[in-house]
Amino acid sequence: MHYLIDESLSRVPDLVHGFGRKDFNEYDLQAFARERNLRPVLLDQIHSDVVHIIDDVPPVRPRGDALVTNVPGLLLVVKTADCLPLLLMDERLRVVAAIHAGWRGTRSRIVQKTVRAMKTRFGTNPADIVAAAGPCIGPACYEVGEDVRREFLSAEFPDDLFVPAGRPGKYFFDLEAANALQLRSAGVPPGPPAGLSACNHCDPDFHSYRRDHSPSDRMFSFIGLFSP
Ligand SMILES: [Zn+2]
Repeated sequence: MHYLIDESLSRVPDLVHGFGRKDFNEYDLQAFARERNLRPVLLDQIHSDVVHIIDDVPPVRPRGDALVTNVPGLLLVVKTADCLPLLLMDERLRVVAAIHAGWRGTRSRIVQKTVRAMKTRFGTNPADIVAAAGPCIGPACYEVGEDVRREFLSAEFPDDLFVPAGRPGKYFFDLEAANALQLRSAGVPPGPPAGLSACNHCDPDFHSYRRDHSPSDRMFSFIGLFSP
């Protein structure tokens, strides 16, 4: 399998999703979509808190870091290589979202803003959301500076997301935990243990920008609805 599947999302009918490994490139993604008669929607990702609600394939890639739709036949895609990919599904109203959360987007609370967009536009009850997190850089590998820690503290994140790294002004940051916190404060119920929380920096099956320094190698995470 060229992509990982989340157990909770895999139980939802007429839904397709996955977190691609590094052997699932953009060509593979396009072929995957074509075979299933899905139309992929990609973003021009800018490490922002900008959420796009879409009902068709936009003529140009929207600038932003989260996509939301309730339209069957669209495949929402985010690209990562250390950042956290998140896939959300409102089971009751059948609304899906894909989020790219690096530290900047996380600090700007892109996850909470995506849930808010689903509420405002579609009437989503956060209690109906199933959320899955894909592989991202793990806390043992993600060293950040005092500047990053200060930005999070001033945005009212708890300091225990940062563990001193043993060198002055350096901390290990738990990116996945910072986003899990946002899901909880948005009212999204905790799922079963994800089992996907592989560190892409440690695992050679995944791309890692910090490890490989490639400006173009990214992994593709995707979610889309089929017509029932
Ligand atoms: Zn690691």
